[in-house]
Amino acid sequence: MKKIMLTGDRPTGRLHVGHYVGSLRRRVELQDTGDFDDIFIMIADAQALTDNADNPEKVRQNIIEVALDYLACGLDPEKSTLFIQSQVPELCELSFYYMNLVTVSRLQRNPTVKSEIKMRNFEASIPVGFFTYPISQAADITAFKATVVPVGEDQMPMIEQTKEIVHKFNFVYGETLVEPKILLPDNEACLRLPGTDGKAKMSKSLGNCIYLSEEPGDIKKKVFSMFTDPTHIRIEDPGKLEGNTVFTYLDAFCRPEYFPEFLPEYKDLDELKAHYQRGGLGDMKVKRFLNNVLQAELEPIRNRRKEFQKDIPAVYEILRKGSEKAEQVAAQTLKEVKVAMKIDYFSDEALIREQAEKFAGG
Ligand code: ATP
Ligand code: MG
Repeated sequence: MKKIMLTGDRPTGRLHVGHYVGSLRRRVELQDTGDFDDIFIMIADAQALTDNADNPEKVRQNIIEVALDYLACGLDPEKSTLFIQSQVPELCELSFYYMNLVTVSRLQRNPTVKSEIKMRNFEASIPVGFFTYPISQAADITAFKATVVPVGEDQMPMIEQTKEIVHKFNFVYGETLVEPKILLPDNEACLRLPGTDGKAKMSKSLGNCIYLSEEPGDIKKKVFSMFTDPTHIRIEDPGKLEGNTVFTYLDAFCRPEYFPEFLPEYKDLDELKAHYQRGGLGDMKVKRFLNNVLQAELEPIRNRRKEFQKDIPAVYEILRKGSEKAEQVAAQTLKEVKVAMKIDYFSDEALIREQAEKFAGG
């Protein structure tokens, strides 16, 4: 079977380091293995409109921001198809048919949608489009016959929903759709990177982000005001690692080579953690180290972004070409879906003949 990857992001803001460790970094690694027959990376504007219907300008402005972040991270249009969801209308058609295979109560049980409804104050009146976005995500994934979907932990319920739709569709209409596999980050800190406030997951909608394109001074400011262990008051006090955002970020970003470079008095992260827990290591020293680590990780991304920013029309052209290719692939799947669902009237000569015979001589 072919190996096909699909994943994407909502154009609701620039991408942040949570996206990077949750999915983007993995995508680029997988892209560069050359193991995939096809890779599709989608800017999910139609999905972004489900909770930003009254703010289309925000979505429009952020298409290019997300595309630049993609290119800056190393997604290569020669190897990966970068496209815009709304430019592939076949996805809407697929969603419409999948809606028949999902119940309202099933959608109501989706824990991610539940918490997002709360976060957006949609409890009193949920837009239908927003409520059904897990179905539209199933359309996005199956349209490309994706076998692998690298995403953060919050996407688990979406992939589950997709699998259920695939099973139900194949059971009712015959083997047509391909079941995807979720690929979660293997490092726990990356599953759901917290925001700089330490409270919830880092999210564009919560304003607790370090952006991939952040300038060095702002990265430093955000790192130095980061949440640590509130009971670690004096340097000699023992410190806690659980819920300590600075250490979570080190888990997500630190590479062994950063110790000789920035903190040679420690062998590795385990030694640093042990000292912090014992007491005698101040927050400022750990924050200075994290700042150096993040600066080293983000500098090449920021510089590459600036290069791509010099030719914006070329970036739109990449998206146009990608959307064209994506549409061709989705159209083929839609055709197969329609045959399976017996709504392919005009291409089915046998049907027309059969009907003609039925009414012959009548
Ligand atoms: P929004 O607030 O508009 O929903 P978001 O910041 O949650 O934006 P999405 O576009 O919804 O970002 O998510 C894109 C991808 O990034 C998904 O695969 C998601 O799992 C992953 N992701 C987002 N935030 C994080 C995070 N804090 N940690 C790990 N992965 C994340
Ligand atoms: Mg989200």
